[in-house]
Amino acid sequence: MLRPPVRGFRRHNGAVSEAVIVVVEDDANIADLLDMYLRREGYRVLLHRDGASGLDAIRTHRARIAIVDVGLPGGIDGFELCRRLRADNAGKHVGVIMLTARDDEIDRVLGLELGADDYVTKPFSPRELVARVKALIRRSELSVPDTTSTVHELGDLRLDLGRREVSVGGELRTFAAREFDLLACLVEHRGLVLSRRQLLDLVWGPGWIGDERTVDVHVRQLRKKLGDALSLSTVWGVGYRLD
Ligand code: CA
Repeated sequence: MLRPPVRGFRRHNGAVSEAVIVVVEDDANIADLLDMYLRREGYRVLLHRDGASGLDAIRTHRARIAIVDVGLPGGIDGFELCRRLRADNAGKHVGVIMLTARDDEIDRVLGLELGADDYVTKPFSPRELVARVKALIRRSELSVPDTTSTVHELGDLRLDLGRREVSVGGELRTFAAREFDLLACLVEHRGLVLSRRQLLDLVWGPGWIGDERTVDVHVRQLRKKLGDALSLSTVWGVGYRLD
């Protein structure tokens, strides 16, 4: 099983620190709604209407989570924002939730494999979105360096669960949060066949509503990034097994 989250993210005085969430959305109604719901949960929320200022805010304020609409005014849309964020070191660990207006935009996202951690189709329930934000923050808390970390070594592949580091032959490889979680899940269940649905439940969470192709897209990324170091079999009609 994936390790359950063990810690809150706390200051020395015990108060839960305010995680910064940057919302990049040009629809004022949606932005205000998200603002209200997220503030109610104690998050610090910054609203931005376009990609350039949103990207800037995510970097400057060290956002934990960015909620990014796909269709944005100006030269940087949601896809491009995500791509730029993932391209730099500081932005790698930001949890990104993409808001898409239509299912065909999700298809585009899947096609582009941009490394967003989650996708939500409009219209969405703010409660559902808040639940996904919380889940993403819980997962990112596992990235705090941990001296009691569990390390798995499979041939050239080395996976440090506490530090959330993956290396092949001693060389570090970069993964989006969800890709890492998927890899960790496969490693912890190695030898077993896991169906796409099981993987969605374990990695994305049981409440995740989405297409099972999402798993395939992430598996493709793992294969691309790890090459021969990953001996992952596709079990036709069922799912995947790490050997
Ligand atoms: Ca929009």
